[in-house]
Amino acid sequence: MSTATEDALIVRNPATGQVIESIPVTPPEELPSILARAREAQAAWAGRPWRERRDLLRRWRSILSRDAEPLADAIRDEAGKPRVEALGEVLTTLEAIRWTIRHGARALGDQWIGPGHQRWLMVKGATLRWRPVGVVGMIGTWNYPLYLNAPPIAQALAAGNAVVWKPSELAAGLGERIRLSLEEAGIPPELVATVQGGPEVGKALIGGSIDKGMFTGGIENGRRVLTDLASRGIPALAELSGFDPAIVLPDAPLESTLKALTWSGFVGAGQTCISLKRIYVVGDPAPWVEGLAEQARGLRIGDPSGDVDLGPLISASARDRFHAMIRAGVEAGARVVAGGEPLDGPGWFYRPTVLTADTAACESKLAGVFGPMLLVRGVPDVDSALSAANAGIYGLAASVWGRDLRQARRVADCLQAGMVSINDAVSPSAHAGAPFGGVKGSGYGRTKGVLGIREFAVAQTIQERSIAGFRPATFPYAPLMSRAIAAAIRWFH
Ligand code: NAD
Repeated sequence: MSTATEDALIVRNPATGQVIESIPVTPPEELPSILARAREAQAAWAGRPWRERRDLLRRWRSILSRDAEPLADAIRDEAGKPRVEALGEVLTTLEAIRWTIRHGARALGDQWIGPGHQRWLMVKGATLRWRPVGVVGMIGTWNYPLYLNAPPIAQALAAGNAVVWKPSELAAGLGERIRLSLEEAGIPPELVATVQGGPEVGKALIGGSIDKGMFTGGIENGRRVLTDLASRGIPALAELSGFDPAIVLPDAPLESTLKALTWSGFVGAGQTCISLKRIYVVGDPAPWVEGLAEQARGLRIGDPSGDVDLGPLISASARDRFHAMIRAGVEAGARVVAGGEPLDGPGWFYRPTVLTADTAACESKLAGVFGPMLLVRGVPDVDSALSAANAGIYGLAASVWGRDLRQARRVADCLQAGMVSINDAVSPSAHAGAPFGGVKGSGYGRTKGVLGIREFAVAQTIQERSIAGFRPATFPYAPLMSRAIAAAIRWFH
């Protein structure tokens, strides 16, 4: 994490509070010239053949893979994650970039749309092409500082764009490492420019001359950014907060499911956008509440430089905000079964927390909470579980747990979320080619895979006719034309 002075971000280890380094802030008034240089660089880059784009990404991937261990150490120290999770983040990042190298050309390849029925109306076939968007302005978050930034940068580059990106001020050191790796790969600093700072720098980036915005972060700031972009007619890709539900069906095996739910709730100390937050148990919740509480109490929490399951929260203010939401949930009727309080310093630790409630009253107070918390509630039937899971504005990921897969699939079909999994949560997002993103208030647009790369491209339709060929529509209108169109309507429809 980092704290800010006017001209520097002080990077600290959230487990100890110790200062790691200091990163200079980019003065917001420099953004117009950075964006102008990016625009020039993009014009040249867009004309480069796929092979050249791909080779540049290959070089970048090999540098990131060479530096996998130091990158994982940096993620551990700056984001406060156990090293195994940090290594997992490096691996999924490399996989996602490799996907782009292998499949990018096909995803962006021309597509022929034959004339089909339209030939009778004398309309020709069409070619669909994917053109670069131009300059992409990216605002990043800190919780997966590599995975949520490097793959979209790779996809935007592959699609022929320039990128000006701002890492989160809470992961400025990782941002600097990514910048250095891009530089070493020979990616011009005008083509992918890294700017550092907090919301002021973010505002200058989003308010500048960009052709598309990408924002990853909280729903409130996301909506501010989207409003600004929409008012200027600039499209955006928004990856926002979640409040992910899990539905546990009566035939879910207790022991193995408890383990999986515990991991999916507490990975990244619950600071994972798609970590579980709400568990709706169809039937008697008692064994699940007790089982999850017991699992939570058994987790090893501490400085990730040692052998631990959970590290700290990212900052003192993040922990204060999290604790205030837990207290508000309790005042609204939730009961604490495990945790529910911060741990004494140094570091911003919070006990893994399991809450239970008899009604939904506390859920609006806990909505969007970002930290190690699972709320468990019993519901009488599947319909009640679905209406609880689908209530509210969030729709990032959701999961269903049960032995009978046909029943689980039926339930999954009714979930309102961008990503739905059966007997799994969080880890499916490691799929390098599966699109990632939310619905409802959790955002729109997708990262990764074919849909992800096409977010950084605009569709262009091309149709052609020979210069001397017959044109069905010309002035003056012949009287025959009305009769022909009327006949076509009768004939075809
Ligand atoms: P945040 O909204 O505080 O900050 C995100 C980024 O936006 C930072 O870089 C910040 O400097 C910048 N920013 C803030 N205000 C801005 C403004 N007005 N204009 C331009 N930039 C601005 O969020 P956070 O604390 O970094 O992240 C936590 C939240 O992000 C959680 O709610 C989590 O669920 C969500 N998240 C979502 C995803 C996803 O893919 N859907 C992934 C990770 C995190």
